[in-house]
Amino acid sequence: HSKDMGRNSYRVHDERISEKALNKVLLETKLRVALLKDEFHVYYQPKVNIRSGKIVGMEALVRWIDSEGRIISPAEFIPIAEETGLIQKIGDIVLKRACMQTKAMADEGYDLCVSVNLSARQFEDMNLIEKIEEALNQANLESKYLELEITDNTIMNTLDTSIEIIKKIRKRGIKVSLDDFGTGYSSLNYLVQMPIDILKIDKVFIDKKFDAKKQRIILESVISLAKKMDLKVIAEGVERLQQLDFLKSQGCDEFQGYYFSRPLPIEEFKRLLNYNRNICLSRKHADCRTT
Ligand code: C2E
Ligand code: MG
Ligand code: MG
Ligand code: MG
Repeated sequence: HSKDMGRNSYRVHDERISEKALNKVLLETKLRVALLKDEFHVYYQPKVNIRSGKIVGMEALVRWIDSEGRIISPAEFIPIAEETGLIQKIGDIVLKRACMQTKAMADEGYDLCVSVNLSARQFEDMNLIEKIEEALNQANLESKYLELEITDNTIMNTLDTSIEIIKKIRKRGIKVSLDDFGTGYSSLNYLVQMPIDILKIDKVFIDKKFDAKKQRIILESVISLAKKMDLKVIAEGVERLQQLDFLKSQGCDEFQGYYFSRPLPIEEFKRLLNYNRNICLSRKHADCRTT
């Protein structure tokens, strides 16, 4: 009897592995088709100055919109895209499009910085700098409008070369931010070693899941740490007014989050920009929130 069970559980185990492998192959195939069909789009989430309420930038976030109009989140396909190397192609698309659309907005009189997330694979690409240059040149966008977001995942394998790459990127006038700060592997070590411009506090520290007092202490400390290191500090995942008020009281520079807006397709983002500009023009120092 027990032998049977053992065999069964082995079989189940085997099937699970092959199912997982199969799903991976299927997803990879779908991603390749999606690339051919141009199904990757860039959404934009505003970055807002905490004191003025003005939109000062945006983060480019990739979305896969399939033939049935379903929006597939990056969490679902980025891991496989990284494993298969497809992230390089997807990343190129995001970078190029983000530069083009930021240039178009600059031409309409909006002085906005765009930030683009970089994966480890892109960071390991010997031609990364050339690709960035190409994206800027094609769009005719000044480098001061571009910011690159890296995480511990981006740099984990190659600390020394990463530092060199970051230095090169910054030499071109492009800013670098350390994303998801506080959650990844060895965050403080990176903060010490990486020549970055901006610190992005991860949303887990904003979210009220833990001990509220401890959370406040951590936020206070991280913001003050960033300031002492002359870094711009931005909070992500702000969903409520109390969170915003607290961040403001601590001198946090900018925020992103559903409280102000979700990531939006370009046309909706431009509409939001337009409202925000008008409100900021008519009400100095007021809360320019539009949603
Ligand atoms: P991230 O770079 O840390 O981006 C922030 C994520 O938080 C986004 O998820 C955003 O939609 C979400 N978010 C923003 N405000 C709130 C809020 O108030 N509450 C909550 N709960 N979430 C909020 P998204 O767009 O699903 O992206 C997930 C991750 O996928 C990103 O995390 C980034 O690591 C990766 N990713 C997205 N686009 C790209 C890309 O073009 N290239 C690469 N390599 N990675 C990307
Ligand atoms: Mg990011
Ligand atoms: Mg983040
Ligand atoms: Mg993240």
